[in-house]
Amino acid sequence: MGMNRERLKNGLEKMGIAADAAALERFEAFHAILDEYNARMDLTAVLDEDERVDRHDLDSAAPLPHGLLAAGARVIDVGTGAGFPGMPLLILRPDLRMTFLDALKKRILFLQDALSRLGLQAEALHARAEDAARLPLYRGQYDAAVSRAVAAAPVLQELTLPFLRQGGLSIAWKGPGLSEEMTAARRAAFLLGGTVRGILDAPVPGREEWAHVLLITEKTGKTPDIYPRRAGTPGKKPLGRG
Ligand code: SAM
Repeated sequence: MGMNRERLKNGLEKMGIAADAAALERFEAFHAILDEYNARMDLTAVLDEDERVDRHDLDSAAPLPHGLLAAGARVIDVGTGAGFPGMPLLILRPDLRMTFLDALKKRILFLQDALSRLGLQAEALHARAEDAARLPLYRGQYDAAVSRAVAAAPVLQELTLPFLRQGGLSIAWKGPGLSEEMTAARRAAFLLGGTVRGILDAPVPGREEWAHVLLITEKTGKTPDIYPRRAGTPGKKPLGRG
């Protein structure tokens, strides 16, 4: 079944995002490549087409109406999986300089193939966030770090803030459970050289029940050299708890 172009176009319009024909074509081609891979391997949960438009494409576009990503911004998608939110953001904003990061190699190989077939320029890096953030090529280099469905908020702070330059933003897609994580998320940000700036609404048109929000943390200082701790530790012993 093909992508419902009208649904995507109308949804984006309701969010205040204009998509040109080239973008819509790329979304369609990306869905087809996802289907092709999903038929061979377990890349991502298979959703029906309308749900995929809403849950993946529209949801991923949430930061754009808020004007959080400047022209030409360097953005890293931490734990991108099959390319969310990074791929919809890049399709809608090909000016972004995007790095897709994931610890699972098959997902990175999929993304490299998809990028070249879509004619998009971006890096797809196979690494754990904890390891990549220690390399000078990546540490302190990004204007924004986006992440969706990767870890609890305090853990995400450690996986994203080290990548940011001062003034850069960590943008995390979160569900309704966020309020319970906020105290720890604020403390973790403080330890990592960041400051929680707030929570923005990220509604997907017609899917009010999902009630996603974006947790916005600004890099206001420098991340101490001891962070991120070695791979696995941020998840096992989240900063800012207790
Ligand atoms: N962000 C995508 C989405 O919203 O559809 C994928 C979400 S999936 C539940 C979580 C992804 O994060 C997986 O692909 C996993 O390999 C990756 N991941 C988890 N921890 C990671 C880490 N420390 N470094 C890099 N990738 C990580």
